[in-house]
Amino acid sequence: MCYAPLDSAEMTPEPACPRCSKVLSPEDTIERDGDRVAHVDCLQPRRLTREERVLHFQYCWDHGVVECVPCSRIFRQEELLASLFGDGMDRCPKCRRDLTDGIRAHPKTRERARREGDER
Ligand SMILES: [Zn+2]
Ligand SMILES: [Zn+2]
Repeated sequence: MCYAPLDSAEMTPEPACPRCSKVLSPEDTIERDGDRVAHVDCLQPRRLTREERVLHFQYCWDHGVVECVPCSRIFRQEELLASLFGDGMDRCPKCRRDLTDGIRAHPKTRERARREGDER
């Protein structure tokens, strides 16, 4: 580990996870931990949250949510091997590629979730 000098650290404050002391990135799944923010899962910071999964099952059960580019296949949420490998990642059933980012980027889910959120 190499630490930046204090000056530059103050210039660009990067919030770090208090549990694993890694810098939090926008792609990480985070939660509030007291007055700080921490990874939901430090080992797999980009894992989908339970809420995100629920949203996908609710809104996207009838169409593909993610494409595995190397396999040129589009998968539905239920086709992904989220639990088979026991690591909580959403993987391509064919090549076991981590498709978490693709699922997260699936625009329909966010759109619909946001719209319903506005109506509430
Ligand atoms: Zn962490
Ligand atoms: Zn694949």
